This record gives sequence, structure tokens and C-alpha cells, in this order.
Amino acid sequence: MKFVCDRMLKRLAVWLRLSGYDTLCDESFPPASSKEDTYLVKNFEDRILLTRDRELYRRRREAGLAAMLIRPSRVEEQMRELSRIGVKFYPVMKRCTLCNSTLRKPTEKEVKAVAEREGLGEYVLKKELWYCEKCKKLYWIGGHWKNMLKFLKENDLLDR
Ligand SMILES: [Zn+2]
Repeated sequence: MKFVCDRMLKRLAVWLRLSGYDTLCDESFPPASSKEDTYLVKNFEDRILLTRDRELYRRRREAGLAAMLIRPSRVEEQMRELSRIGVKFYPVMKRCTLCNSTLRKPTEKEVKAVAEREGLGEYVLKKELWYCEKCKKLYWIGGHWKNMLKFLKENDLLDR
């Protein structure tokens, strides 16, 4: 399953990427304009459009393309809707949460460059690292990871 989320579903898009799903959002759209809905109706044909906009949903379905209307405003409830169609939320180091690119292992040079730029401590550099080539960003399993698992557990979204 591959997705494209409307602008109102950015947090959901991040959770999908964290869980390894190929998910596009507004960084893949042309600059914001009144024609954005029309763009979303006609493009990303191989993806399921996730939207909170009933009219956009209707137009996309009429165009014969996949769409799912997401009614809840809270991200955990949006996630629950998606788990009903088989989406499994669980953090994996696969995609950049900012741009959706596939992560890979960094080279020593890349680690050094990011560490210098962002002032990363030694303890980070000893961890297993992943890298987004596009954003020049390093990822590692840290405290944030535990918080994500806690969030999934508290909202009954972890697979049983
Ligand atoms: Zn990225």
C-alpha cells in the first residue's frame, strides 16, 4: 500500500513513514494554490489518497482513483481507521519522516559532516545510524523511539 496524504494529514503521513509506508504529502505537491484539490484528484494514480475533505474524496473516486475519507481529527483515531484496512503501525528505520526517501547506512564522511553541523554527541555516534541523502539527516534509535512505542501502546495501536 502506498499513500498520498492531503495537507491536513501531515502527522498521519509522518506516522506512516515511521512505519515504513511509502507516503507522499505536501512536499511532493506544487506550491500551495486553489488548484491543489484538482491536482490531487488527477495525480498519484498508483496511491491511495487519504483526505479529510469529503468533496476531494468524492471527486477522486469519481475519477476512478483510490481514496479513503479520514473523518477523525486526532491522529491516533486516524491511525485506527487505517489499521482497519490492514496498516500496521510500528517504527522501523526505513524512510525519512521529512521527505519519504529510503534511508541507508551513512558513510563515515557523511556521519562526520552531520555530527559537526548539528553538534551530535559521542553517544549518538556510537549508535547504529541511518541516513537520508536528500535531507542530509541522521537517524538513530533514541528516547523518541520509546515514546513512539508508548504512544502506540496507550492508543491500542500495537499489533497483538
Ligand atoms: Zn529526507
